[in-house]
Amino acid sequence: MSHRTVESPDLPQGQKSLLPLTRIRASLLKFYDQHKRDLPWRTSTGRPPTYHVLVSELMLQQTQVVTVIAYFNRFIAAFATLTDLARADEQQVLRLWQGLGYYSRARNLHRCAKAIVLDHAGVIPSDVATLLTLPGIGPYTAGAIASIAFDKPAAIVDGNVMRVISRLDALTADPRQKPASLRIWARAGELVPQDRAGDFNSALMELGATICTPKSPKCLVCPVQQECKALAKGIVDRIPPPKVPKDKRVEKRDVLCISQTAHGVTRWLVEQRPSKGRWAGMWQFVTRDAADRPHIDSLHITHLGQITHELTHRSYEFDVWRVMCEGAETSLPTSAISCTRWASASDLDALPMPRPHVRIRELIGI
Ligand code: SF4
Repeated sequence: MSHRTVESPDLPQGQKSLLPLTRIRASLLKFYDQHKRDLPWRTSTGRPPTYHVLVSELMLQQTQVVTVIAYFNRFIAAFATLTDLARADEQQVLRLWQGLGYYSRARNLHRCAKAIVLDHAGVIPSDVATLLTLPGIGPYTAGAIASIAFDKPAAIVDGNVMRVISRLDALTADPRQKPASLRIWARAGELVPQDRAGDFNSALMELGATICTPKSPKCLVCPVQQECKALAKGIVDRIPPPKVPKDKRVEKRDVLCISQTAHGVTRWLVEQRPSKGRWAGMWQFVTRDAADRPHIDSLHITHLGQITHELTHRSYEFDVWRVMCEGAETSLPTSAISCTRWASASDLDALPMPRPHVRIRELIGI
């Protein structure tokens, strides 16, 4: 592919003779200097603290910036340093992550902090190869830490970068598929400059988040419009191709909100999920597959309603039942539960719970 420039009368005089690669870099860095968003993990001057880059990049995987900000601030307030995080209890880490979803990221970040303390004397590595050996660090996060925290010319490709590069190069293939993805990674590696690599990568992502958006991109104000082949060909709205919708599996669950009151304090029976799988290690009201509805005739039970929860490939339907049970703990349907406890409302505040169960708390008013 040739990237020799086609002279454009709209370009500033000084940029007309530059190769497209150089112009793209210069335009994006200028755009970033002028328009970068003020975010808590960025500093106005110099490089941000490496630990802040690590935390923010793990949080930003599959989550939008606007959602992450409050979580990041709370997390850093609780664990000011990597060592604080490494020493933390996993339940506290999960509690601070509660609501952000994709909880394996929280457990991986915690394991990553421990591994850095144990194997790297508490110093976050700066090279991509070593970063890739750490729990939860894939090519994107390794490139982000190496470039943003250490200014090394490492490529990064997230959803925003995929879209921007696909449009710049008029790539009509699906970037979620391996051949196109490899091509985009190679192009990202070609684009990243030796100097200000972190700012350049941040600029690419910033462009995708604010200008080259999935729908209605603002091409008129785009700093790289002169280099954009999709714009020149009039095919911006076809890139990237839309996702093929998949049929979602529907999972039906019964949730039994079982309480007992003694000495004026109401406590709720909750169970801890297994240490592997979705919402691992988090706490929930007693939850069973709706096909295995337990026999609870002897208890007073009321249907409170249904809560649905959408994930990428799956939908959950939770039928919520209120079960009054005074002093009959041994007769409760808990035989299949490995770890249960009775928890007051204030106890529940300290336990990490999956989002649907937080909503169930709201439904039953505790
Ligand atoms: Fe994206 Fe439009 Fe800029 Fe091309 S010109 S990179 S499509 S915003």
